Amino acid sequence: MYDIKSLKAEEFISDEEIKATLAYADEHKHDRELIEALLEKARPKKTGRGVECSGLSHREASVLLACDLPEMTEKIYALANEIKEAFYGDRIVMFAPLYLSNYCVNKCVYCPYHVQNKEIPRKKLTQEEVRDEVIALQDMGHKRLAIEAGEDPVNNPIEYILECINTIYSIKHKNGAIRRVNVNIAATTVENYKKLHDAGIGTYILFQETYHKESYEKLHPAGPKHNYAYHTEAMDRAMEGGIDDVGLGVLFGLDLFRYEFAGLLMHAEHLEAVHGVGPHTISVPRVKKASDIDPNVFDNSIDDDTFAKIIACIRIAVPYTGMIISTRENETCREKVMKLGISQISGGSRTSVGGYAGYTPEERPHDTEQFDVSDQRSLDEVVKWLMDMDYIPSFCTACYREGRTGDRFMALCKVGQIQNCCHPNALLTLQEYLQDYASPETKKVGEALIDREIQKVPDPKRREKALDYLNRIRNGERDFRF
Ligand code: SAM
Repeated sequence: MYDIKSLKAEEFISDEEIKATLAYADEHKHDRELIEALLEKARPKKTGRGVECSGLSHREASVLLACDLPEMTEKIYALANEIKEAFYGDRIVMFAPLYLSNYCVNKCVYCPYHVQNKEIPRKKLTQEEVRDEVIALQDMGHKRLAIEAGEDPVNNPIEYILECINTIYSIKHKNGAIRRVNVNIAATTVENYKKLHDAGIGTYILFQETYHKESYEKLHPAGPKHNYAYHTEAMDRAMEGGIDDVGLGVLFGLDLFRYEFAGLLMHAEHLEAVHGVGPHTISVPRVKKASDIDPNVFDNSIDDDTFAKIIACIRIAVPYTGMIISTRENETCREKVMKLGISQISGGSRTSVGGYAGYTPEERPHDTEQFDVSDQRSLDEVVKWLMDMDYIPSFCTACYREGRTGDRFMALCKVGQIQNCCHPNALLTLQEYLQDYASPETKKVGEALIDREIQKVPDPKRREKALDYLNRIRNGERDFRF
């Protein structure tokens, strides 16, 4: 029985409701009148409080995803782009993953870290090695990390993760600093989520992998991750533990994408209904080749057009949720989907344990790697590429540091203060990057962009202040924010 407010996985992600949703979507997928009405409903609207969007329910959004009328797909893409422009503008937030340990006791059949993989060397960073990795990441210009680890209560207990977070925040190398650590570790207890919250993490990220319970159990045949309910209810426990920025995701390719899409949106609706705040981010990984993993054995893989459509439909359904794409995807694919709603990307990523320190940008260790990285460019190349397309690479972490998390962040989005707040913050952090880490060519392009963009801050006082901060950054000061 479907119950959006239930705390039981099988009730808020009801298989029956998903199947009924898919049937409804099939029935209406060529209903032009309904589709036009849904697009109109989801369009950004000016209200007394700024620009607002209503979003769409999982049933409504599933109709858009099922629709295969080419002219409607064009309209869906145009609306996704309009919503992205309204709330995220041209800013793209940058981050990098940091792999702490690939020890794992699970048997996830798509993941090279599975316990039976004897091909992969096992490695866990010491605090000294964490330090080296963080210095290497700071020297690239990163300010925001997502830490990753396999699940292993003996090798990677929560105390180890907490110690690593502490080490990461403590390192101030030259002008560098990691100002936000997001955490992608296995589902855990409320008590452990409290500890992560107290350690000052940004977003707690946990991919559902698949919302289809039967497939989930087959894909996770043993180990703690086998428990579908414990995994699916993790975000409720995280919120109970005080973490109000949580990141959802599906590993596309494992099960039927329309099923996953409906489940993902039902999960978002559930969090909003129970906790008053939806997910902070949604990630859209696709299964990749890796040690002991052949992605071709998963027969639900999706092509680039379907992938783009999913992203556009997520953008329309949950307009205030950030969307993340990793270096699993190549440059061409990343370029295409950024227009459709992606707001955060990784750059210069290494997915091996200890993959950053001691290697040149051209060298790439593969031994402990989690998956093949498709976009292998350096951070500097990615930053310049973004700016050449008129995006603004942002290293901003201000919201979380100013306590604007959960519903307080959503409120900022809704009252349209983004252009006075996120926009100058993006420019200030980009200026820091240009000053400390960029190549001369990137710096030239970036400074011209900042000079142009700063004039677009609507509030004159804010603009003046931002100009003052920019000058001070150019003269050596750091870490200003609104
Ligand atoms: N161990 C943690 C857990 O159980 O959720 C999370 C860390 S894992 C390093 C991060 C994510 O990588 C997984 O949630 C999964 O979606 C993704 N992943 C695993 N194998 C992959 C593959 N072959 N290709 C692409 N992504 C993969």
